[in-house]
Amino acid sequence: GPVDVECDLLVLGAGPGGYSAAFRAADLGLKVVLVERYATLGGVCLNVGCIPSKALLHVAAVMDEVRHMADLGVSFGAPSVNIDTLRGHKDKVIGKLTGGLAAMAKMRKVTTLRGLGRFLDPHHLQVAETQGPGSEASGATKALRFKRAIIAAGSQSVKLPFFPQDDRIVDSTGALGLKAVPKKMLIVGGGIIGLEMGTVYSSLGARLDVVEMTDGLMQGADRDLVKVWEKMNKGRFDKVMLKTKTVGAEATPEGIKVQFEGLDGSRSEGLYDLVLQAVGRTPNGRKIGAEQAGVVVTDRGFIPVDVQMRTNVPHIHAIGDIVGQPMLAHKAVHEAHVAAEVIAGELLGDKELASAAFNARVIPSVAYTDPEVAWVGLTEDQAKAQGLKVKKGLFPWSASGRAIANGRDEGFTKLLFDDSPEAHGHGKILGGGIVGTHAGDMIGEIALAIEMGADAVDLGKTIHPHPTLGESIGMAAEVAHGSCTDLP
Ligand code: FAD
Repeated sequence: GPVDVECDLLVLGAGPGGYSAAFRAADLGLKVVLVERYATLGGVCLNVGCIPSKALLHVAAVMDEVRHMADLGVSFGAPSVNIDTLRGHKDKVIGKLTGGLAAMAKMRKVTTLRGLGRFLDPHHLQVAETQGPGSEASGATKALRFKRAIIAAGSQSVKLPFFPQDDRIVDSTGALGLKAVPKKMLIVGGGIIGLEMGTVYSSLGARLDVVEMTDGLMQGADRDLVKVWEKMNKGRFDKVMLKTKTVGAEATPEGIKVQFEGLDGSRSEGLYDLVLQAVGRTPNGRKIGAEQAGVVVTDRGFIPVDVQMRTNVPHIHAIGDIVGQPMLAHKAVHEAHVAAEVIAGELLGDKELASAAFNARVIPSVAYTDPEVAWVGLTEDQAKAQGLKVKKGLFPWSASGRAIANGRDEGFTKLLFDDSPEAHGHGKILGGGIVGTHAGDMIGEIALAIEMGADAVDLGKTIHPHPTLGESIGMAAEVAHGSCTDLP
């Protein structure tokens, strides 16, 4: 059929992966078309993920801080929440960022096409135009021919099959919609997303239950980090149900009645005003006509790629949530730059660019709860499981002047160094974890140290400003190296 648009590079999906790829490719001189079904750029992260959740978590943290100030001698009145204004604030934050992206796309001459994309063959995409606030089809379609493509169609939250259709049962997007504050809320799935949203709602006044299939909340993080978070957050929860499955639910006028079954066979039930499903995210690989383009998609909907983010079809790349775990925005952005550089390098005959590859050693994870929990690289649990010999340096924040001054000295900073015989006592840093306020803002330094192959002396002899929480990284390194000075 006739082709309406031609381009060097098609980018399907305008999340952090898609827009970063489109911008980098345009900067490198390619003619780029970015296809997105929703009205705004930014994908899950900006519209219904990272950013709105942090806008609300900030407010929650301030509210909690204010309550805690009484212990420090300053009392405020009880916070009174205007939920419409709060929602408006969150929407304004989103609008500022997505508007900024639209302006940047324009400045870079990236063509954005609104609609639902489906591959027709290895060089053509059909775009069914969409309109309105959602992704309603307008009936019009466009055909697009591309030399190269980057698939960045992301993921969506998993829905449990036995939950009835009901306004009181939401996923993270619904929870971020912030319609009302429930009295009693159930969080199904004790991962980062569930616990972040639970933090918001409980700070606003909801009582929480959480149900988790595995034996612990916040899987992936070392248990010693999580324990600190648990101790500080006990008060938010009525029940923490571990090793427990949600097996059924029923909508009643009084609330959502949910049935649980423990792995030991025990059964129980609860009644909730709001149920948040946060049991993971599933990639959108099966919804884009990938097979028409010859692109392999796994049963679970992931698209396998190599270190250049190339699919089995050499001129089609894929990035972000759709290529696998961890499903994180900073991973998507990094992969986006790799894919865009490889493609631009190949199209423009620039060998150096064309040899770009994903070779990051580590990808940090952060739970933006209160306190924050952040980790990167090897965890202690992994070191144990793999039988690796590591030297640990742990600095408790109860010895940090700044943490004490802040009235928040519950945290700690932990570093793990290679202690294998080959390291001869000068082992490189392999991983680290921080629990405490602002942990997420500090974990990048440990990631940098790992990328640069730093050892405990490098970190310990780096002069950190005093008094800061970041100092704790240098201190932990000194502990590992056995040369701890005792600066308060
Ligand atoms: P997405 O952001 O999912 O974007 C994909 C885009 O493709 C979407 O806009 C979608 O509409 C579009 N699309 C899909 N199919 C089509 C099609 N056929 N046609 C047209 N358009 C299509 N990550 C972090 O790193 N830090 C955080 O703090 C964080 N917080 C989160 C909080 C929540 C509540 C959630 C849900 C996620 C959070 N994440 C966070 C994860 C982060 O949002 C994702 O990892 C990130 O958005 C992935 O980017 P992406 O570009 O791969 O895909």
